[in-house]
Amino acid sequence: MNTEKSAIRILKDDLDTSINQPRICLQCKEMKCLEGEDVVEEMEKREFVWSRDRIERCPFKALGGLGQDAYHCDLCSGKPQCVKVCTSEAIHI
Ligand code: SF4
Ligand code: SF4
Repeated sequence: MNTEKSAIRILKDDLDTSINQPRICLQCKEMKCLEGEDVVEEMEKREFVWSRDRIERCPFKALGGLGQDAYHCDLCSGKPQCVKVCTSEAIHI
């Protein structure tokens, strides 16, 4: 498993305060990440692998990437698997 290919990113604390922040796509109504692209938002929302260009356009730093790809939460087609498997019940949608 390559954790770099996860849609959930953890921003690590460089100051060693142990405050690490999880980041995930906020499913914005106004998708700044798609600005300038001629695409259908509803279709893009269903895709997990995106183009790396979108990483820089997301104002929330919600996208991680590897190589030319970015990884975006597609909500697992309405059945979020991370919610299902999180034993701490830390994820709610
Ligand atoms: S990638 Fe960023 S801008 Fe795009 S929908 Fe997700 S949180 Fe919003
Ligand atoms: S809903 Fe699916 S794609 Fe989104 S973070 Fe959870 S497991 Fe990953």
